[in-house]
Amino acid sequence: SRHINVLGLNKRYPGATGPDALESIDLSIEPGEFVTLVGASGCGKSTLLRIIGGLETRTGGDVCIDGVPVDGPGVDRAMVFQHYSLYPWLSVTDNIRFTRKLKAHTADSTSASVEAASGRADTLIRVMGLGHVRDAWPNQLSGGMQQRVAIARALMPKPPILLMDEPFGALDAQTRDVMHDLIRHLAKVEKTTIVFVTHDVDEAIYLGSRVVVLAPRPGRIDSIHAVPLPAQ
Ligand code: ADP
Ligand code: ADP
Repeated sequence: SRHINVLGLNKRYPGATGPDALESIDLSIEPGEFVTLVGASGCGKSTLLRIIGGLETRTGGDVCIDGVPVDGPGVDRAMVFQHYSLYPWLSVTDNIRFTRKLKAHTADSTSASVEAASGRADTLIRVMGLGHVRDAWPNQLSGGMQQRVAIARALMPKPPILLMDEPFGALDAQTRDVMHDLIRHLAKVEKTTIVFVTHDVDEAIYLGSRVVVLAPRPGRIDSIHAVPLPAQ
């Protein structure tokens, strides 16, 4: 788990005529925190998450992970979006096992680490309730099951930071409940630092160890610290 520090962040999209997408955002996230980020549509949640993930440039301020700027090399982050994208020509198991990162890893690796990876894939398949579809193709699965695969794939390399943009937004209520319990369990067991964007306040309060509210006025950012969850 890692420390994320956002200081005086500004984002203006090229050609935008309105106010900046993000203005003077300060946010510090401690290692192992499960931060849920809420706010009205268009207030900049996805933009902030993508900048932390290194997928979007910034126009001002600093964003660092353990003191290293996010646009530099070498910071591990995994992202999960509302719309999963699985490799259609790979089975469920292979979608989970063959992340790009892992391939680079195994190319010059010992058979022991390949075995460890395969063990982790098995664990994730079990924990995510994918055992009965492990040999299926993605297009044979419901949207909810496909999203489970996408999440398992993101978790495969044990990312110290997990960035999730409305990952459960397209799921039915029952699958969402299952996923909520899974992600809370994983966050606790693996001590992952999680930033989770949602427009659903109930979801934010249920999941987060801290709820961060991104308000549509410049520089306004409020945090609500949750009471620590009781040990289960
Ligand atoms: P949220 O995730 O809170 O709904 P976004 O980060 O998606 O907010 O968007 C923040 C603002 O930036 C919005 O006004 C949106 O229209 C604008 N925006 C987002 N992405 C782009 C883009 N790629 N190009 C131009 N404007 C964008
Ligand atoms: P959300 O609000 O869930 O973040 P949106 O539906 O606002 O998603 O945006 C979906 C995609 O469209 C994103 O990739 C975002 O960057 C892009 N986008 C949003 N607003 C604009 C905009 N004004 N101009 C160009 N692209 C945009």
